[in-house]
Amino acid sequence: MTSSETTAQGTVRAEGTVHPWIEAAPAPVDRRLYAVTPRLAEVRRVVPVTPRMVRVTLGGDFAELLGCAPTDHVKIFFPPEGEELPVMPQVGPNGLVPPPPGTPRRFRDYTLRRVDRAAREIDVDMVLHAGGLGSTWAAAAAPGMKVGVLGPRGSEVVDPSLDWLVLAGDETALPAIARWLSELPSGVSVRAVIEVADAGEEQQLVSAADVDVRWLHRDGVAAGESTLLADALADFEFEFPTGRGFVWVAGESGALKPIRRMLRNHPALDARCVDVDGYWRRGVVNHDHHGGED
Ligand SMILES: Cc1cc2nc3c(=O)[nH]c(=O)nc-3n(C[C@H](O)[C@H](O)[C@H](O)COP(=O)(O)OP(=O)(O)OC[C@H]3O[C@@H](n4cnc5c(N)ncnc54)[C@H](O)[C@@H]3O)c2cc1C
Repeated sequence: MTSSETTAQGTVRAEGTVHPWIEAAPAPVDRRLYAVTPRLAEVRRVVPVTPRMVRVTLGGDFAELLGCAPTDHVKIFFPPEGEELPVMPQVGPNGLVPPPPGTPRRFRDYTLRRVDRAAREIDVDMVLHAGGLGSTWAAAAAPGMKVGVLGPRGSEVVDPSLDWLVLAGDETALPAIARWLSELPSGVSVRAVIEVADAGEEQQLVSAADVDVRWLHRDGVAAGESTLLADALADFEFEFPTGRGFVWVAGESGALKPIRRMLRNHPALDARCVDVDGYWRRGVVNHDHHGGED
């Protein structure tokens, strides 16, 4: 098989040897797409999780919210400056209607940290950092404030019967990692590697799985400028455990490049069991994680 050859389940790497289960096994990720629905939501509660992370509970018409995976995310639409209501995207017979040219892009991606359809509410954990529309809004969030919620537009459901997972990332990945851990059953072995600003940003993570969490502290190094995550994963370079597994990594796009390279070239892994997603990019407003390598 060549490096660019594609199977029904995805592209399979050619260099090195892959574990025999990889080619024999079904694809470890089931990708589902949904029709997106814009919803108006209201802040119900705001709770600080750590000094630099705030949990915002949004109430709205979430009883029928689609989605089922820990990495499910939505676009949150923030109201224009000085206004109370967000400009909501419109859905026509052919799907989303593009906004008129020049419309400010007042939305950002956030993970669904918790979904409670019965209570018609969702939680999003938002990083507080210098500048940024989402961060500035989160720092001032208060009950009664309105936002728009679009999505999720799909789910990437990782095979729940896998033997092991490696979950890694910075603060922006932490909501997905925390949700993933909270939903895993016992019997799965998980290694989580999480980079945060300092010890004060560590969170209590709850899981029934067999979890080994390693926290990495930047301790003064700016977010997106540290190599802690790449160094830790290279250190592990670690015999990935035996059995069927999956590696998921998210964080600052540039910091993930060496990680992506390393994982792609790892003899025990192939493209179908690795997902490296640039959730934000240093110096870029509203980074598009679907663009380029991300
Ligand atoms: C699928 C997906 C899920 C995500 N889930 C979450 C989530 O649950 N919680 C969350 O907080 N973020 C999450 N993110 C990341 C978030 O969308 C970005 O960090 C976004 O740029 C934040 O918007 P902002 O308006 O605060 O900053 P922007 O206006 O986009 O950027 C302004 C400046 O701030 C910088 N910046 C952006 N994010 C950070 C950061 N985290 N730390 C330091 N500097 C930053 C930018 O590089 C830029 O220079 C997710 C991203 C994706 C793609």
